[in-house]
Order: sequence, then structure tokens, then C-alpha cells
Amino acid sequence: MAYSDKTRGMYNGILSGLQEAGLFKQERFIHSPQAADIEVEFPSGSSLKNVINICANNYLGLSSHPDVVKAAHEGLDSRGYGMSSVRFICGTQDIHRKLEQMVTEFLDTEDTILFPSCMDANAGVFEAVLTKDDVMISDRLVHASIIDGIRLCSAMHDTFKHSDMDHLESKLQLHHDRRLKMVITDGVFSMDGDTAKLDEMAALCEKYDALLFIDDSHASGFIGKKGRGTHEKYGIMGKVDVITTTFGKGLGGASGGCVSGRKELVEMCRQKARPYLFSNTIAPPVVAGVIKVLEILSATTERRDKLEKNTEFWRKGLTEAGFVLKEGDTPIVPVMLFNAKLSQDVSRDLYQEGVYAIGFFFPVVPQGQARIRTQISAGHEIHHLEKALDAFTKVGKKYNILGKTKQEIIEMYGM
Ligand SMILES: *Cc1c(COP(=O)(O)O)cnc(C)c1O
Repeated sequence: MAYSDKTRGMYNGILSGLQEAGLFKQERFIHSPQAADIEVEFPSGSSLKNVINICANNYLGLSSHPDVVKAAHEGLDSRGYGMSSVRFICGTQDIHRKLEQMVTEFLDTEDTILFPSCMDANAGVFEAVLTKDDVMISDRLVHASIIDGIRLCSAMHDTFKHSDMDHLESKLQLHHDRRLKMVITDGVFSMDGDTAKLDEMAALCEKYDALLFIDDSHASGFIGKKGRGTHEKYGIMGKVDVITTTFGKGLGGASGGCVSGRKELVEMCRQKARPYLFSNTIAPPVVAGVIKVLEILSATTERRDKLEKNTEFWRKGLTEAGFVLKEGDTPIVPVMLFNAKLSQDVSRDLYQEGVYAIGFFFPVVPQGQARIRTQISAGHEIHHLEKALDAFTKVGKKYNILGKTKQEIIEMYGM
């Protein structure tokens, strides 16, 4: 009632400031299920366009998989639409317990607790298990949801330079007298697609008696030979104290997350984590869908193997075409353009060529590191990737960036 013209004007000022700075996020409307081929309305009100999606977290191509959709239907029919309650009142079904047990087995941990999302898992876990006598030591590039979780926790907080193990060791020494020390990292970092040096981190945690926390949202289901995650890739399964992950990416892409790890830490979350206590957990149809996803992935590594092959094909193709990429071996393949406007122009032209790929620039990535972040999926067939490569090559030629070095691109377009 007191929303005065002055208040409205203030917000409109802020919003047009975002627009002028080129930081205003414009959504594109997809009229089809999430998949390699999608139908998109963009800009708003325009007619639908068929494009290849190369920027979804749909790593395993399970978002619209018929068996997963069918399992969700069956979950809906047998367990209903919603729980109308949080877990500890009357919001726990047998399928919630079953999914927790399956995740524990899949990740090779001691126990698992579901959360409405991984954002909620990260928001709740730290304050549930740590106190002001403890310290959290996090990589400087961890996901925003971890940063928020850290802010909600009374333990002391310190950081180490991205993947700098000497720096981490010095921080572990500095904080040696704390009751508990927890080292916190993403398993795969989403913007660059690099993995944390988990073998070295696990050794340091051993040496300095620290807990190890990994957020494996961009790894669960496809990193490691059996797709169990970065802890499998680095041969430290069973040694990680806390893993958080999402069901909103590779593991079906709907929603939900979890904390998986040491039995007592999971129990502490069940007793104390606020997003668990005060928010409904994952809805029954989604739980049934994720159970099916884990059944599929436990039975065969076919999809993660295909993803690996697709990723190799894509990296090789872009490299041969002459693009500058971020080094790595995950399905996150950033095409570096350095200049913010160039990243937006290239994204727009790719869309005209039938390829949906979003350009990222500051503050999502550091200044001067604008890029198109491509993400490969087991849902892509080689013909998708070939067509997308043709589009990238055509647009790359137009902007004269093929075969150019980072320095040459920056000389042409600026940072
Ligand atoms: C996407 C992501 C999340 C959030 O997952 P939701 O389940 O969608 O809340 C958390 N951490 C990392 C590292 C992520 O990439």
C-alpha cells in the first residue's frame, strides 16, 4: 500500500542501470522438453525456432528420457503429487528413504539426507555441523550457494587461492588449533570446467586432521569410470567426509539435492539443518524419477561413456577449427572470447545459425575472460555436434578469430 512512486522510481533506476551496463538477464522461452533439439521463443513474442542446445547441464541426456518420465508418472500415481509437510512432521515416504539409501551406495558414503535443492543443502550443512570453534577453508572459486552457506555459519572462514595446494597447506597450518577444520571445494568448477586436485587435498586433510567437503554438482553421474564423481576419478572414494550434489543437472535435471557422507554429520543435518527442517523436501514424482536415474546409471556406464566420446569429439573439433579453449577433460568446454560484447555478438549469431549457447562475461566470470560456455551431453548425437561445429566455424570466420591467439583476439576486440 505504501509502494510510492518514489519507491517504484528507485527500483526502476536500479533495473535500467543493469540494462545500461549490459548486465540485464533476458530469458529465452523453451516450448519443448529439455533435450539436444529444442524449440525456442526468442526474443519474447517471436515465432518458434528449432535449435541445438549446447548449454544445458543435461550431461547424461536424462532430462526427458522415456524411462525417467515413465517412472515419474508411476511415482505420481502411486505416491501422489505432494507431501504438504516437511520431513519430520509427516513429509517422509518410503521412497525418500529408498532414494537416500541408493545415493549412499552410488557415492560410496555412509549415509545421505535429501534437500529441496543443492543450494539448500549447502545453505544448511555448515551451520548444522560446525560451530564458532571451527574453521572453514574454502577454494576462492566455490559456487555461490557454498558462499551463502558459509555466511550462515558461525565458524571462522578463510580461503585459499584457486587450486593452490601450497596456499591451502599454509592455511591448514595457520588454523591448526581450531576444534575442527573443514576444507571446502567444488569437485568440478562450473565456469572453467577444471577439477579440484582432490588426491592432494585428501592427503593434506589426512596430514592436518581436517574434514574434506566436495560439492559434486557438475560431476555426479558422469565423472570417474563409473560416473560416481570426482572422488572416484581421484581414487579417494570412501575418504570424503561430506559430498553435496544436485539432482538438477546430470542426475535427471528436475530438482533436489543432498548431503552425503559421514553418518554422524548426516544425522546432525537431520536434527539441525534449517532448509531440511523448515522446507518441503523433493516431491514424490521427482523422487521416483531420480530413483530411476540411479538405477539406469548403476546398471550401465553407457551414457557417461558416450558423453566422454562426445566431449572428445567436440574439443577436437573446436581446437581444429582454431578456437581458444580452456584446457580440461570435463564436458564443460569454454570457448574463450575475452571481450564481453564479442561474447554476446557471437551468441546471437550462433542462435541465428541454429545453435543455442549463452555468452558469459563479468561478473559471472572475471573481467576480460568473457566466453561461450559450451556443455556437452550424452543426449547429443554426432550430427548435432557436427552441425554446431559448422555454426561455430561460420561465426568464428565472420569475426576473424579462428587460428588467432588470445593476445590477437584481445588486440582486435579489447578486453
Ligand atoms: C547448480 C549448483 C548448485 C545448485 O544446485 P540446485 O540443486 O539447483 O540448487 C550447487 N552447487 C553447485 C556447484 C552447482 O553447480
